[in-house]
Amino acid sequence: MVVYTLIRVPKLRRMSLRVQSQRGVVVHAPMRTSENVIDSFVEKNIDWIQKQRKKQSAYIPLTRLELEDLARRAKKTLPERTRVLAERLGFDYSHVTCRHQKTRWGSCSHRNAISLNIELMRLPQKLRDYIIIHELTHTVHKHHQAAFWNHLERVCPWALELDREMTKWKIGYAMKEE
Ligand SMILES: [Zn+2]
Repeated sequence: MVVYTLIRVPKLRRMSLRVQSQRGVVVHAPMRTSENVIDSFVEKNIDWIQKQRKKQSAYIPLTRLELEDLARRAKKTLPERTRVLAERLGFDYSHVTCRHQKTRWGSCSHRNAISLNIELMRLPQKLRDYIIIHELTHTVHKHHQAAFWNHLERVCPWALELDREMTKWKIGYAMKEE
């Protein structure tokens, strides 16, 4: 039997299942789906739930000390690296700030101010550069449509592959080596 949190959602068409590191198993269900149906839905997905739990246990939350260290290194490294890459690849931006953001690796404002997550310092160099080049490309294209990706791939030929690699990195968590 799996313990789960049930959230009823008006107008929802079908049930959905999530495994969150803080809250455990969460089920979103339409208002009228019976608890029996929900129980068996959860049971049916037990292998998947176990797999998600195992994956999540490989991530360890960063400590405050680690974050302070990342912030110090980020401020020393990222603005300069951005300057070098922008010059090499022909981009213009207004300035760079390094912050700890909980949901994004980087962003680019409509005034072309680039904000970079201090956690970029945990990434291998090629991924760190990828995020910086990604944000620099947003100085030209403020969206993720084809023109953006075309431009990005022109200045960073492995962009799509690197973008895929980013999915295994989680903000706020270090990965346990296995
Ligand atoms: Zn983007």
